[in-house]
Amino acid sequence: MIIVCPSCLAKNRVPEDKLGSNPACGQCHQGLIPLAPIELNEQNFSQFISNSDLPVLIDLWADWCGPCKMMAPHFANVAKLYPNVVFAKIDTEANPRLSAAFNVRSIPTLVLMNKTTEVARISGALRTPELQQWLDQQLSA
Ligand SMILES: [Zn+2]
Repeated sequence: MIIVCPSCLAKNRVPEDKLGSNPACGQCHQGLIPLAPIELNEQNFSQFISNSDLPVLIDLWADWCGPCKMMAPHFANVAKLYPNVVFAKIDTEANPRLSAAFNVRSIPTLVLMNKTTEVARISGALRTPELQQWLDQQLSA
């Protein structure tokens, strides 16, 4: 499957059974599947999302948003548990066009993407168990 390097956006072909063994980018040698959320923005979003064979779970957040800050450590925790999902954050203030494209009405909003298709979304801050439960439901659907 094709994994897009979150550091340099190079496309890497990785066998599915190697996903759990921390594969490195052939170009920049950074880890391809960071266990911490990556940052997506208006510059890298389309290239990343349209080339990634892994589902991408996006946290749309803003610095002034209390519930977003409450959820952040939970989002980071859950990211470590799913090597087969890319966890990404989009700062809605810094990326107003992306925010508009997602038609974000409230934050935090989580959007699960499969390539350029939105698979599911949920708004409001979730803690680790709720976030895991929701994600498991979407991934098994
Ligand atoms: Zn790279």
